[in-house]
Amino acid sequence: MSENFLNFQKSKDYIEESSLHLAGGVNSSFRTGMKPNALGFVSGEGPYLFDMDGNKLIDYYLGMGPMILGYNPSSIKEAVKKGIEEGFFFGAQSKYELMAAKIINKLVPSSELVRFCTSGSEAVQASLRLARAATKKNMVIKFEGHYHGWFDNVLWSNKPTLQHAGRRDNPNLVAWTDGQDTHSGDSIVVLPWNDIEILDKRLSKGDIAAVIMEPAMCNSGGISPRNDYLKKAKISCKSNGSLLIFDETITGFRFAPGGAQEYYNITPDITILAKAIANGFPVAAITGSRELMSLLTTGKVVHGGTYNSQYLSMIATVKTLENYSKNDFHNNLNEKTIYLKEGLEKVFFDQNIPSVLSSFPGFIFCGFGMKTQPQEYRDLLNLNTEMYISFCLEMIKRGVRSLERGAWFISIEHSKEVLQKTIEIARESAIAIKNN
Ligand code: PMP
Repeated sequence: MSENFLNFQKSKDYIEESSLHLAGGVNSSFRTGMKPNALGFVSGEGPYLFDMDGNKLIDYYLGMGPMILGYNPSSIKEAVKKGIEEGFFFGAQSKYELMAAKIINKLVPSSELVRFCTSGSEAVQASLRLARAATKKNMVIKFEGHYHGWFDNVLWSNKPTLQHAGRRDNPNLVAWTDGQDTHSGDSIVVLPWNDIEILDKRLSKGDIAAVIMEPAMCNSGGISPRNDYLKKAKISCKSNGSLLIFDETITGFRFAPGGAQEYYNITPDITILAKAIANGFPVAAITGSRELMSLLTTGKVVHGGTYNSQYLSMIATVKTLENYSKNDFHNNLNEKTIYLKEGLEKVFFDQNIPSVLSSFPGFIFCGFGMKTQPQEYRDLLNLNTEMYISFCLEMIKRGVRSLERGAWFISIEHSKEVLQKTIEIARESAIAIKNN
């Protein structure tokens, strides 16, 4: 590496040492394998992360999405400090969970009753149980390329190769990991997303408890629902006695105060909320109508969790959610997003790099090697991922950290100057990969 580039040696040494004590030196399979190596961090402030080598990085991981207010916001910090003095954990009720639920019920169109838990993966499990109990049916439809957490029953066809994926109109179920319960797919049907005819046809068999989807596909690419797809999916679910679940782990509080359901004006039966709900504290929620959620109220559907509505996490939730109805938050966030997206588009155009970009408030997807917008998962298999990963490596060497799968999370703390600096670094990085 040239002397002008950032050095990540201390992080590298740290990962090597920690690998002797921690499996892989990390605590999630999704934190390994990044180039030049996984990093260790010491602090964060606004749009910046400071790593173990003393590098100041402009960050677009945002902790995989949650840090929409940026790192270390003082409003949350001060409130949580006070909470620490008050005892930090009761494993029981506190006023902040009520305050948080009231805000969610006001912001999220389909939400009348809320249940908190600690991760998106868990919330997904609760939503499926609730849907099965409500419909007395067992099968669930999920879509190719959509991610709903790491548990066995939903870890199907997240990123199948074309060779394994099978027929488009009747895809194979492709397991992601060794050790996955082979029977956990027995109650799952995988379909291509964004094709209403295929969905409608399968729903008409009448055996589906729920259709679960990311309302905009953000874990693979950044793909919008086709015109009327969400509306038609909702109608088809209703007429076939199935529930529609929007997994708004990424889209919730990001696309709009009320998430993708507000952005697209379609309300699901059950919603999963996480990430931007608490700006880095481990909080997720399921919400739905009073009638549906009352299955939890009566205890007919069991849902537990020692750390659910943890005291400090609930304080952070309230302090985070308070931002979304103030200061034109989402217009402001979207303006920043579009500024960055247009800057990146120009960089790739100038360098003659075939690219597709899409954006939603607070989220950009960027892929190389294609010129037409992907409409579903299989289209993404035409991307030049290797070239994009090289671009990310050039970026991080120059101080910009963005996800190698092409996702960019933007916070309210990314100022015009920071975005402009990012665009300059993107230009240098694009030139570097062209010259390599
Ligand atoms: N659903 C979606 C749509 C997600 O993006 C994620 C995480 N990226 C999850 C579920 C799982 O959430 P968690 O990592 O909090 O378990």
